[in-house]
Amino acid sequence: MHLKRFIEFDSKKDNSFILFNGDAILYDNLNKSYLFDPNSLYLDTDYKNYRIGLGIKDGKYIYAVQLKELGTKNISNDALEQIDLRYMLPQLSSAEFQLVSRAKQLLHWLISNKYCSYCGSKNIFEEKEEAMYCPCNNIFTYPTISPCIITLVTNANKILLARNKLFPQGMFSALAGFIEAGETAEEALIREVNEEVNLEVTNIKYFASQSWPFPSQLMLGYYCECLTGNPEPDGVEIEEAAWFDINNLPNIPPPTSIAGKLINSYIADH
Ligand SMILES: [Zn+2]
Repeated sequence: MHLKRFIEFDSKKDNSFILFNGDAILYDNLNKSYLFDPNSLYLDTDYKNYRIGLGIKDGKYIYAVQLKELGTKNISNDALEQIDLRYMLPQLSSAEFQLVSRAKQLLHWLISNKYCSYCGSKNIFEEKEEAMYCPCNNIFTYPTISPCIITLVTNANKILLARNKLFPQGMFSALAGFIEAGETAEEALIREVNEEVNLEVTNIKYFASQSWPFPSQLMLGYYCECLTGNPEPDGVEIEEAAWFDINNLPNIPPPTSIAGKLINSYIADH
């Protein structure tokens, strides 16, 4: 897919919409697709501010659309289902993941930058830069991506898994956190592990990254080692943390998530 940000819309072109209602993505059960032909929908005309083009694939112009409200007033399609994006994303192929994650993030960018943060005037979309623009200080606002680290702390055949208080009961995962202004990813990793479970780690190795559109994270996945000590959960973010033998693991995230990939790849190597 050719990645591009655009606002213009020509109904005579071959267009495709990805539709959101809050954090839910709309799914057409009849055609088994989250890509909608806009000609097959009845959409209220005032949705215009919440539509952004995100790329062109095989001659098809793909747009993300945030619906103001869902209902027969805005959209009519009997086979419509709403699926929570957090549930759907891990089930997608990597190409589909990129498309849907990008759709959600560009809508967040568009909606949260309607106005200039310096003078309060309405921003305009500047086509050449593909950015929101205000002439007051010649300011272009581009999509913001927030880098985060996610790390699997290891010690030979044991891995450290933790339960965030927001996780479903029984679910454990790798440790994660936002990178602070001025920090390197490695410094953030050392700080986060120390803050969340009070352990010192070494031997940091990069693994892979994954986009996570809630609202705009880029998860940088790392392995690290901790050869002594037991985790002491901070009790704020982390409710439980423990060393687990790789042959006896609790419920972990799906294998398509970066956390699942970190864990499964480590097990495969040991
Ligand atoms: Zn301004």
